[in-house]
Amino acid sequence: MVGWKITGIVLLCIASVTSVPIIDNEQPPQLTVQDTDPESYDFLASTLEGKEVKFNDEDDEVEYRLPNNTIPLKYYLWLSTKVDQEIFEFSGRVRIHIRVLEPTLLVKLHARQLNIESISLVNEEGDILASPLLSNYDLQTEILLIVLPNEFATGDELFLHIEYNGILREDGSGFYRASYIDSDDKRVWFATTQFEMTDARHAMPCYDEPGLRAITSLSIQHYGAYTAISNMPVLSRESVEDDPDYVTTTFMDTPPMQSYLLAFIVSNYKYKSNNFVDVEQRIYAKPQAIDDGECDFALGEVDPMLRKLQEYFQVPYPLPKMDHALIRDYIWGAMENFGLITYQETSMLYVEGRDPVTRKKSIIELIGHEYVHQYFGNIINPKWWSYTWLNEGFATLFQYYISDLIYPESDHMERFQNNAQAAAFRVDVIASDSKPLNYYVETPENIRAKFSTISYQKGGSVLRMFQSAITDETFKKGLYYYLGEMYYTAATPQDLHRNLQTAYDEDFPGNGVDLDEVMTTWEEQAGYPLVNVQRTGSSITMTQTRYGGGNEIYTIPISYTTKSNPNFDDMTPKLWMSENTAAIPDFPTNDWIIVNLGLNGYYRVNYDASLWQSLIEGLKENHQMISAYHRKQAFIDMNPSTNTLADVTLAFELMSYLSAETDLTVWNTVSRVEGVFSKYLFGTMAHEQYNELILSIVQPHLTRLGWVERVGESEDDANLRNVVASYSCSALNQECLDVEHQKLLDFLAGTGSASFRVCEAVRNADGNTHKLLIDTMYVHDDKLNFIQNLGCSLNADILKNYLSIILDPFNGLSVGERAQILLYTYRHSATALQTTLEFIHENFGALDHVLGDSLKDQLLSMTSYINDNIYFDVYKRILSAMQAENFLTSAEVTTRTNAVNSNIEWVNSNWQSVAAYLNIQETTTTTTEATTTTGSPDSITTSTEGAETTTGASPSFIASLILIVACFVSNLLI
Ligand SMILES: [Zn+2]
Repeated sequence: MVGWKITGIVLLCIASVTSVPIIDNEQPPQLTVQDTDPESYDFLASTLEGKEVKFNDEDDEVEYRLPNNTIPLKYYLWLSTKVDQEIFEFSGRVRIHIRVLEPTLLVKLHARQLNIESISLVNEEGDILASPLLSNYDLQTEILLIVLPNEFATGDELFLHIEYNGILREDGSGFYRASYIDSDDKRVWFATTQFEMTDARHAMPCYDEPGLRAITSLSIQHYGAYTAISNMPVLSRESVEDDPDYVTTTFMDTPPMQSYLLAFIVSNYKYKSNNFVDVEQRIYAKPQAIDDGECDFALGEVDPMLRKLQEYFQVPYPLPKMDHALIRDYIWGAMENFGLITYQETSMLYVEGRDPVTRKKSIIELIGHEYVHQYFGNIINPKWWSYTWLNEGFATLFQYYISDLIYPESDHMERFQNNAQAAAFRVDVIASDSKPLNYYVETPENIRAKFSTISYQKGGSVLRMFQSAITDETFKKGLYYYLGEMYYTAATPQDLHRNLQTAYDEDFPGNGVDLDEVMTTWEEQAGYPLVNVQRTGSSITMTQTRYGGGNEIYTIPISYTTKSNPNFDDMTPKLWMSENTAAIPDFPTNDWIIVNLGLNGYYRVNYDASLWQSLIEGLKENHQMISAYHRKQAFIDMNPSTNTLADVTLAFELMSYLSAETDLTVWNTVSRVEGVFSKYLFGTMAHEQYNELILSIVQPHLTRLGWVERVGESEDDANLRNVVASYSCSALNQECLDVEHQKLLDFLAGTGSASFRVCEAVRNADGNTHKLLIDTMYVHDDKLNFIQNLGCSLNADILKNYLSIILDPFNGLSVGERAQILLYTYRHSATALQTTLEFIHENFGALDHVLGDSLKDQLLSMTSYINDNIYFDVYKRILSAMQAENFLTSAEVTTRTNAVNSNIEWVNSNWQSVAAYLNIQETTTTTTEATTTTGSPDSITTSTEGAETTTGASPSFIASLILIVACFVSNLLI
């Protein structure tokens, strides 16, 4: 599944293919529709082995799991809906074919928000044998307990018939109501489903666990002018005898699959089909989207994706068709239902000239994510939610990897690093969020929490590390073995390890690596390591510690290259570092070393000053000697906020070679270093000099490229101009600001496009102009660009007005858009930060109601911008008030206050070095409390807020500082 959150992401999807290339004779067993005889699926019972130890705060007294002494073989499900008439009650009946694994008098099923009318024991034909059966329902565990008329023995099979009704939900979960506005401005209702993680139980009483597979035979009674689609093709469509406007659509049996993969949609959607040969793929959407061609781009991508996946995995997609349905009222990004992927509508629509071009890449990756799930998730399912990452980690990695195979000239793997790996690094160091990949959960709430950055982005990053370590080809072979052995069964990580090991041993005999042991250190432990690399005489010493603190030891595949023996292509490990330290002897003096080639390892690297100096000198002498990918890596490894081995000003030195750097992949990573200084120097007297440093770096490029596009120039030049101009504007180059201001004036006058940099353009805009831009934002196709930058205003009243639209229930903004307004305001300036803090303080109850958990996330993100005690005091008051009202726990408050404390600590400990490098002159204030401020950032910041004057920090200068941060952030955060 793919889920959109403000600070994290989750997705799901699928497709089919016209031809199946290169599937050799060793392909795994194929399961065709005709094979779906439940008698042949004895392996279903193998999914029921012992449970793991509970990891977290689950209540041991309450059992949410089914006893698994019986298992489902097949559901015969019938549903009826009149959603077309805005009647939201639905009725259902299900006959469940059950096999008994242990003698029992009881059957337990999951059910949610269903009104059970009757339960009977029936025979295979549905004839009643005993009725009604006694039952009991537990609201907390959502378990329906049914008492059988007699004990059944191991191996017995029985059929339960249950009649019930329910309500199509409004929250986008279970069997739910959705709608769209048609071309006559009329709301059209339809019914659809979202069952992952635990909502299949809302459509029928069932065994709603991910390790259990069963076949479903589905019939839906619905309005005749509507169409019903589901996982499988339609078998028949027949009139309803006593209700001529209605029909019953019956589908072919599904393969044995987990309950959460069942899906169906009853709507008047239109569709467009691919040019299929043996597997038809359709995109279903509201009629106007189909008619206007808004789905055409996505439709063009489904065949290449499935074709490439089948080629890569050497396993055919097993179902006879694939439908892709686009739904406006969809709370996730997409869902990989077997044979019927559902998507959030806007994430799949693309119109040339209307939508940002990058949408194309995200559509391809989204389709890829859901298609990968057809293999990892659907063909192989995780034995329990403990291993959610076996679904989501693969889908996350391969959504980029397969996209890259299809479009190697594009930057999908770079997007993997920027979007996935970077997110994992960011989250997996936060005490409250960092977790192992494997841990046990049981309640629906905790199961839902498994769909997090840990399962998705960390899962993908750990897999990427081992893919690179054992080589792409061997990893691919191991996955082929894994798919073959575990085809249509439930897996644990050990099943993956075993098959990768087989491939690794075949391709690298005598490798001496126990992948089960090695991979377990990454799967069972939270966090990731930092490898400190130091020159000690004529050797290199490496030491690992858990990044952010901790005693964990990981077995790290260490790849590296050196100046005297450069090889950037072989990314396999030269050593597996399983202890706390490791050494490289005989290391040439003055050589540089780059560790973690390609940044494929899920670990960070830190060099000492000597090694950084060697590398920086190498870049200054001839940066082309080091591949662009690894020049980029230098900006990722050089983290001035955490490097305790080297002087922080080496980061300035690293940036200084950029005046000769023209590679965009490098420039796109510069913000990793630059952003750290923007953050910590916020509001300090060092920012003006820092600005000058930035301008001196970008000016040579702007002198060469000019400010406006030139006829016939390359795309790279145009893109580089865009990047360096952003830095220039952010550093308050007047020429740059004039250009952007004029563009805004032209836009408002109706004579120019909206291509201006919104942040720079609005910084001093008056209230009326700002309101005009807010009105423009509401209707503009690139709404997000406005949302992300309208908070750049330096006027507190304007900002207050802007923030207030978050709470306006009538302006049509989505929850996500409201959250973005908050997220992209406080970070733009000191004024914005203060205004936002006041706004939250006054409205946290209402904000919590509107934004939900994302308010908590934002309070955490906000800590990056609080570096002094003045804002910290306000911030702490907010946390206290929210804790008092139970919006935050004590642990959540501690996490946030610790984050700010570490900012303040950084500023205090690095100030002298920064001030010396940037030639910050000693300054004298007229305040009585601080007679001198030789680089005491707090006193300077204080002066910016008060009426006292501080030589060297005039009010206009302060305004400039504010703007600098605003613009840096607005232009560089992606
Ligand atoms: Zn997914």
